[in-house]
Amino acid sequence: MTSDLDGRTALVTGGAGGIGLACVRALAAAGAKVHVVDIDARRTEAAAFEVGGWAHVADLTDPASIDALPAEVDVLVNNAGIQHVSPLEDFPPEVFTRIQTLMVTAPFLLIRHTLPAMYARGWGRIVNMSSVHGLRASAFKAAYVAAKHGLEGLSKVAALEGAEHGVTSNCVNPGYVRTPLVDGQIDAQAAEHDIPREDVVAEVLLKRAAIKKLIEPEDVASLVVWLCSPHAGHITGASVPLDGGWTAA
Ligand code: NAD
Repeated sequence: MTSDLDGRTALVTGGAGGIGLACVRALAAAGAKVHVVDIDARRTEAAAFEVGGWAHVADLTDPASIDALPAEVDVLVNNAGIQHVSPLEDFPPEVFTRIQTLMVTAPFLLIRHTLPAMYARGWGRIVNMSSVHGLRASAFKAAYVAAKHGLEGLSKVAALEGAEHGVTSNCVNPGYVRTPLVDGQIDAQAAEHDIPREDVVAEVLLKRAAIKKLIEPEDVASLVVWLCSPHAGHITGASVPLDGGWTAA
């Protein structure tokens, strides 16, 4: 790892597990001091302790929790997310709303909260954890697909407004990554179709991907750190697929 981020401060939402924890580790390894924000108190404290950062236990669906977070950061990684799988006609409206609040409104509020300090310093990096589902749809994921498409639009607006202030904003678009969020989907599909977990991975999740292997959280984190590096200064308003060819098909 380089030390491109020496002297920089980062804030990672959903930083206590999965892709977020990998981002926390990679940003810290690149030299940043990291604020770990997550709803899970025990894992948040553990992640912050591991990297010598700060723990913030927060439910990001509560706007007041965002006001209480630090505003003086150089790198913002909007990563926290949840999934709910259901046909549209049965999709619980309150779950739909909660997903938009966590995955679109909270990133908006956090960008709004942290931009003034980035503008004041003339440098900032916003990385929004989108998905292949920010670029394509899958059945039964109405709230998630709607939220990720919304996040894509938000990210582009932040790129346009931030450009003259030295702030870039980009989306990272992973395919299926080996995390607890995907483990839950594998379990659910295995039970629903009565097939082994390996078959769910190969024949359901990765059916559309050219590379038939789950992506590792560290691969995603490495791209996030690179988007914060000096050579990535001209990449803004972009959406970078990391999907084993899923969106190429
Ligand atoms: P994960 O479930 O492993 O981690 C998500 C983290 O967010 C958890 O630590 C959880 O505690 C936290 N969180 C959930 N609700 C929260 C809330 N209300 N307030 C604060 N924190 C909250 O999930 P992951 O797979 O690491 O996903 C991280 C991001 O990457 C999500 O935005 C997800 O949509 C995206 N993504 C994941 C995959 C994948 O295959 N895993 C693929 C594409 C995109």
